[in-house]
Amino acid sequence: MKTIIEPFRIKSVEPIRMTTTAEREARLRQASYNVFLLRSDDVLIDLLTDSGTSAMSSNQWAAIMRGDESYAGSPSFYRFEDAVRDIFGFTYVFPTHQGRAAERILFSLKCRPGDVVPSNTHFDTTRANIEFTGAKAVDLVIPEGLQPSTVHPFKGNMDVAALERLIGETGRDRIPLCMLTVTNNSGGGQPVSMANVRAVSETCRRHGIPLYIDACRFAENAWFIKQREQGYGEKRPIEIAREMFRYADGATMSAKKDGLANIGGFVASNDAELAQRERNLLILTEGFPTYGGLAGRDLEAIAVGLHEALEEDYLLYRITSTTYLGTHIASQGVPIVQPPGGHAVYIDAAAMFPHIPPLQLPGQALVAELYREAGIRSVEIGTVMFGRRDPVSGEETPGPMELVRLAIPRRVYTQSHVDYVVEAILNVHARREAVRGYRFVEQAPFLRHFSARFEPL
Ligand SMILES: *Cc1c(COP(=O)(O)O)cnc(C)c1O
Repeated sequence: MKTIIEPFRIKSVEPIRMTTTAEREARLRQASYNVFLLRSDDVLIDLLTDSGTSAMSSNQWAAIMRGDESYAGSPSFYRFEDAVRDIFGFTYVFPTHQGRAAERILFSLKCRPGDVVPSNTHFDTTRANIEFTGAKAVDLVIPEGLQPSTVHPFKGNMDVAALERLIGETGRDRIPLCMLTVTNNSGGGQPVSMANVRAVSETCRRHGIPLYIDACRFAENAWFIKQREQGYGEKRPIEIAREMFRYADGATMSAKKDGLANIGGFVASNDAELAQRERNLLILTEGFPTYGGLAGRDLEAIAVGLHEALEEDYLLYRITSTTYLGTHIASQGVPIVQPPGGHAVYIDAAAMFPHIPPLQLPGQALVAELYREAGIRSVEIGTVMFGRRDPVSGEETPGPMELVRLAIPRRVYTQSHVDYVVEAILNVHARREAVRGYRFVEQAPFLRHFSARFEPL
């Protein structure tokens, strides 16, 4: 059979509400053209993020009923710990309320002012938590990873020669750990090859630097390795994941991604001395080590979800549906980051709207048009998110690229939903020359994309 179907049927439905163009126009104006300020009831297809938006399975809901809410020693914790150990292989596992809490615990124990932490590309919360300790976060993705239209099977790979150079220049004493993000979220959801994990690990071990994997999309990364890397085609995703983590000394995880849960995360390692300090900090900020800021029922949902995310039928459907969206718009001339990533498709808004200069916010214009056209919510990853405003002169500096991300929630939308999104994007693309830019009317000094207000030009 050539047709790849959703490997599930639907037991409980969540209605989504159709709106008229006039209604969306009014909502957009009320939200000052910032889709973060919309009510999600007014959104038809929500592609803002794949984080915490997964649909849980009947097995996860059944496990939730088994959740034991004991303060200490809950069997739900032991089921969670078993699941993490089975896949990740690490001895010490601490639940946290989400990924950034795991990062904060790890980095506040390992990093000192003046330290340097390399990664392929740090995710925003990872970078922020490293910089909060006074250390510096350095991105060392391969050059192909920064070129939107270049096709490469593993655009998330780290540049190992650049890592060697950094270690040589900085000195291993100033590098408390190295991170590797799989898949590379900020780099477009692009995978990291097993050969690269192995090479980074070998380099780190030679210099005595611990390697931690930012594992949020470990299952999607395992699937790309199975599809694209020689020698892995016959291996099961769980075997590939286990091998990947064998090359690492620890991991941080947001269970809101490949944990298929709506909340949760963890930090794991084999380092007994570090684990003792993590346990103390966890008690101070998250909770007792057998619940770590989560309810017992959340631990159960994660324990089941981690294994479901590795099922082949699921991963085939998951990656195929993201690719389907990307290839269908790209084949009609819409410029996207190639190839499509695991969890999201990125449209190059600068290439789509060459008549809108970066400081007139082409990504913001596309985000507003997709909502106006069809009630679709996406997110700008360009000058609004990464550009800077000089606090004194008020002068704006554009971001490095003008992208719009369409993140696909897991197991939530069907192929007809995706077809609808394709149609909407093509409609906007057909009238692209008439689309105008935007300007800021209000912005916060930090993380301005969440609260900024805009006005069409
Ligand atoms: C989401 C994410 C995080 C942070 O996890 P939260 O659960 O949102 O705190 C860290 N790293 C990567 C790569 C992510 O995608």
